[in-house]
Amino acid sequence: MIKIDNHIENKIYDDFISEFENLINQNIVEKSETTINIISSKMIDSFCELKQTLKTDYGSSPYCFCYNIPDCEIKHVIIVNEELCKTMNFSRSDHYAALLHEIGHFWAIQEYGKNILDNNISLSEYLSDKFVLKLGMGKELISALQKMSASGFYTPDYCKNAIDWRIDRLTDKLPL
Ligand SMILES: [Zn+2]
Repeated sequence: MIKIDNHIENKIYDDFISEFENLINQNIVEKSETTINIISSKMIDSFCELKQTLKTDYGSSPYCFCYNIPDCEIKHVIIVNEELCKTMNFSRSDHYAALLHEIGHFWAIQEYGKNILDNNISLSEYLSDKFVLKLGMGKELISALQKMSASGFYTPDYCKNAIDWRIDRLTDKLPL
């Protein structure tokens, strides 16, 4: 059973949980009680031992949402860069689709194992996007990715190889 805990004072994340927690549990078989925490990037410094256990320096890279498995009492965390989401002009459904993508990372790890996915970032992103498609939010995810691609926050290489690559696969233009 997956429980999603929101630590951000923004109703959009509470609404996401009310709307999607059941559907997520219908699509992920998780026997143990697992909590996925939604926190803001502003909380990294003060949230448990999170800062010391994060492997990447999330302070410098422009992410809107990311999923992480820290090595502290918090096992699963989705970190949201609220400011960047605002700058990208993410709608409610953009937020929902992006959050489902992050939960898709959890699902993909359960299905395929962390080691395989750590060595294949494209596969990891692809599978997480497939999870969003399965839950019926593919169009909304494309909308969020298009906003990211057009934002000017990412290098042309990153847009082409990471963001547009995913849009192409979500629109079924190209196989993996
Ligand atoms: Zn991802």
